[in-house]
Amino acid sequence: MADFDETFDWVVVGSGAGSVSSALLMKQAGKSVVILEKSPYFGGTTAKSGGVMWIPNNRFMDPGEDDEEQAITYLDSVVKDGPEFPGTSPEKRRTYVREAPRMLDFVVGQGVALERGSHYWPDYYDELPGGNKTSRTVTAVPFNKKELPGDWPGKLRLGMLEMPVRLDDGLQISNMSRSWAARGVFAKTAARVVMGKLTGKHWVSAGAALQGRMLKAILEKNAADIRLDSPVNEIILDGDKAVGVVTEKDGKPWRVGANMGILLNAGGFGMNAEMRAKYIPKSSNDWSNAIESSTGDMHREVERIGGELAQMDQMVGFPGTRGPGFDTAYMKPGTQNVCAKPHAIQVDQSGERYMNEASSYEHICQTMMERDAVVPAIPSWAIMDSQYMIKYPLHNKMGSRIPKGWRESGWLKEGNTIEELAEKIGVPPEKLRATVDRWNGFVDAGLDADFQRGCDREYQGYLGDHLAPQGPARTLGKIEKGPFYAVDVVPGDVDTYGGVMTDCEARVLKKDGSPFGNLYACGITTASPMGDVYPGAGASIGPSMTFGWIAARHAAGLGNQDLT
Ligand SMILES: Cc1cc2nc3c(=O)[nH]c(=O)nc-3n(C[C@H](O)[C@H](O)[C@H](O)COP(=O)(O)OP(=O)(O)OC[C@H]3O[C@@H](n4cnc5c(N)ncnc54)[C@H](O)[C@@H]3O)c2cc1C
Repeated sequence: MADFDETFDWVVVGSGAGSVSSALLMKQAGKSVVILEKSPYFGGTTAKSGGVMWIPNNRFMDPGEDDEEQAITYLDSVVKDGPEFPGTSPEKRRTYVREAPRMLDFVVGQGVALERGSHYWPDYYDELPGGNKTSRTVTAVPFNKKELPGDWPGKLRLGMLEMPVRLDDGLQISNMSRSWAARGVFAKTAARVVMGKLTGKHWVSAGAALQGRMLKAILEKNAADIRLDSPVNEIILDGDKAVGVVTEKDGKPWRVGANMGILLNAGGFGMNAEMRAKYIPKSSNDWSNAIESSTGDMHREVERIGGELAQMDQMVGFPGTRGPGFDTAYMKPGTQNVCAKPHAIQVDQSGERYMNEASSYEHICQTMMERDAVVPAIPSWAIMDSQYMIKYPLHNKMGSRIPKGWRESGWLKEGNTIEELAEKIGVPPEKLRATVDRWNGFVDAGLDADFQRGCDREYQGYLGDHLAPQGPARTLGKIEKGPFYAVDVVPGDVDTYGGVMTDCEARVLKKDGSPFGNLYACGITTASPMGDVYPGAGASIGPSMTFGWIAARHAAGLGNQDLT
């Protein structure tokens, strides 16, 4: 047996979503916990994210709005089973659907203020059996990070929204140039920001609110010893049982023993260029929104000790474009929301449409990469007309005025005719003309006969124009009024989606399919339990928190108890 510098019951690698739900459960069970985080910040990509959790049949939904069977029906209809996707199975999905609402009840019971993420964020394939047309999303209530003690406010990873905005509000504000109601929401939000400043508050929303609130619960309960700047470099095995890890302390190796188990919650490999080149060659960390420490350390370590990796070619794609002033393929409002709106389409470099643009961000990027194997489609082009430009947001533009520098930098391409625009983007003019004419015919007919944009999928309306009448008009609109515009679109991402194989108890599996002793994993360190599909908003964080919690329950020998 190895000698250790110190020992805990539960050793967590990384401070992602599942780390905290597992730590709270272990504390409740009376166990000691250490969270070893490589970066100087707490919270992982989860803190930087939208913080949305996809939790079917959750406590915030109305009675009768959802149930376990509907959610299972939905997942079974969207998620593919097969040898390419061993991270998922009917049993794994059932486990998720059954346990996620219980995990949520537990976390809320620990004093973490959560709420319905949005009342309108349909599942991404809501037209399929069991699909939900309202919302299965859960998020944290905006959080004043000054509620954290000592120097912890500065150690919480920066979020995407450092202000008190709820998701529904954010959605409305994007229509500010056209709606008095939206202006009202903006005014209220601005007032909250000013009030917060006057009263010395530092509001955060989305993922930073989630991880801030989770961190607060951990610190208040003294649930875990949290060590930042503590990368885990090695898993120590005794036979096939994980007994500890090697981290660093004061620049030297530091061996930490684990009595009951080790949870790997160390994120993805979004920032590891070598791994990307090997597994997802058509993607790039230059286009990724993952955090700098998402380098696949535990993917490689599990592989070294004989574990199985799967679904490694998957990422949570998020189409982006790198406009002036941005150092990555910027994700908000995201080209998905652009091309899904009326008067806009996406074409490949031959000038042809090749997908339903009003699809999930993950699906769009998958389709771009598949298309690129046949016709150059990376980058693709978002094509818009002047009606689009007047009405809808693009990049950081809210109103109709095109910001200075967009044309000069060469990012925004412009032509008085479709043919002139085609010349500017190097696409055969007659082909782009034919594509636009065909599209305009579909708009007249009320349905895109090629890719079913405008069909009975509520999610299309969600991505489209909320002020347009319900139905196809929310996403269909002719491209007919010049000048015409184009910006390039690349398959960016919000991190990767493949990794180590786990079972329904979140135990890490060896190559022969049997579990290592005491070794667990959750989140995007694992091969997603959703296979290669993103069924709805929050399909990363929801499973991470749930399987982290399941892992702790299993390691603590609690059976089906959850100690709420
Ligand atoms: C802008 C943006 C918005 C997003 N919005 C959403 C959303 O709303 N809902 C959703 O479900 N997903 C969203 N995503 C994706 C989602 O954030 C991630 O997939 C998810 O947070 C991953 O969580 P995790 O628990 O697996 O790990 P993470 O939250 O990534 O945490 C992993 C942690 O492990 C640490 N680590 C890495 N290596 C080591 C090591 N060797 N030793 C110790 N620590 C290590 C990392 O530093 C990191 O802190 C978004 C992503 C981005 C970028």
